[in-house]
Amino acid sequence: MSQDSKTIRFHCENIHLDDGELAAGEVVCSEREPLEIHLGQKTSDSLKLPEGAHIALGRFDPHVHFRESPLPTREDFEKLRRDGEDYESLNKAVAAANQNYSIRSGCLAALKGGVCCVGAMGNIPWSPVGPERHSQMQNYYWEKGLIPIVAWPRIEPDSDPVPNHEGKDFGSTFGGSGLTGRARSDMYQIWEGEAVSFHNDQPRTDETISEFKDRENPPEALLHHRYFNGDTVLACQQETIEIAKSAKVRSLLARHIPTGPALQQILDTSKEVSFAMPAEVGLDYLYWNQDRLMEQDEKIALINYRRPAHPTREDQLGLIELTRDTVRSGYAIFFGSDHAPHSKAAKAFQNGLPGSPGTRNIEHSLQIYLELKRNHGYTWQDIDLLASINPAKHMARYFDFPYETGTMKSGAMANLHIFQPEEPYTVDEASLSKTLEDPEYHSALKGEQGLFGKTLFTVVDGKAWDVAGIVQAAN
Ligand SMILES: [Zn+2]
Repeated sequence: MSQDSKTIRFHCENIHLDDGELAAGEVVCSEREPLEIHLGQKTSDSLKLPEGAHIALGRFDPHVHFRESPLPTREDFEKLRRDGEDYESLNKAVAAANQNYSIRSGCLAALKGGVCCVGAMGNIPWSPVGPERHSQMQNYYWEKGLIPIVAWPRIEPDSDPVPNHEGKDFGSTFGGSGLTGRARSDMYQIWEGEAVSFHNDQPRTDETISEFKDRENPPEALLHHRYFNGDTVLACQQETIEIAKSAKVRSLLARHIPTGPALQQILDTSKEVSFAMPAEVGLDYLYWNQDRLMEQDEKIALINYRRPAHPTREDQLGLIELTRDTVRSGYAIFFGSDHAPHSKAAKAFQNGLPGSPGTRNIEHSLQIYLELKRNHGYTWQDIDLLASINPAKHMARYFDFPYETGTMKSGAMANLHIFQPEEPYTVDEASLSKTLEDPEYHSALKGEQGLFGKTLFTVVDGKAWDVAGIVQAAN
């Protein structure tokens, strides 16, 4: 490897190896070059990390919403438009989406959280339906991203599949496509033999949220979470599993699993079906539960809702335990943040009902890992498997990374998360707003006590970003 000014070396006592051991040594990173590791060595030009710092694999987050959308030329639009789309409305929708959030802000937030690669969702105005529109989104996100971004194609009725990729079904998302079971079934048929993922949230079939509110009159901050209780997830997952069975997909990924029973349902089903059933556990469900919401400052609790809703304490403890046991069994299970940067106005209650569900959270990935490490018996290896190794291997099925991912060894892709686990942490919204270039920045974790962890550097394909303060290139 060339030893030019683009090379940076870090020495550390705690390098996370694939077998779970921690080792002292030096890692060498150069942009777009593979990783070099020298255990036990230290050279004079290596950067000294603070006492107690760790070097783990960079985190892969397969589920984010970065919102920004490409705008096709009028010619491409005419060729690729779907029923109901018109160019003037698309122009406006793209301008609005791109004004509210950017791929750049999303990438800065990822880097701050130790995340070196993300999978981005296609619920954008010019959505990635069919191979051509998907490749437009993929190219656009690749060009604008500070980190590699895998764009997930979107499954819609009457559209071509994207072969050897993983299609995302938004049909089951309340407020998404709002498709009926029959339409979803038809579109899964188109993806026969391919991989599919789905949202596992939908409203109750027997009662609207307004009716539920009138009948139960729950505390306002819990309205959303009590209505979308764990049973709504079980019902949606069951319906989707039946559709996937009849369509003979190759793989069905359940996104953002929020409760122990919902994960158990996936694990039980995986033993009976002929397709693979990887599992994505929603990262913030491992921190938030309904008891915690009631202890939270009410103003913040009122914007701290997402879908699936936050679990009861009992369902959360079930999820935490089962996720830990499942990852130790070797199952394809991983975290996903579902980073969803809505504006404050979009999240406000209107007419007594919650607005857009979702929260910013990728920038606080490390703090949630440390909640599991400090309070729930997770080991570093559990975290590394769930946040780095397993999602990297999953995403590498659908995307050509330049080198092997999800392994800490010389020759692999140089993706690292360098952090200090012992440092207490509190949210500073003003500073994050500036650092992430995100004027609408707000955090559900504002005011939370007992958080730990500081990301020092995030290395992405050999390029090291110093993220301790303002995000800046270090090599
Ligand atoms: Zn999502």
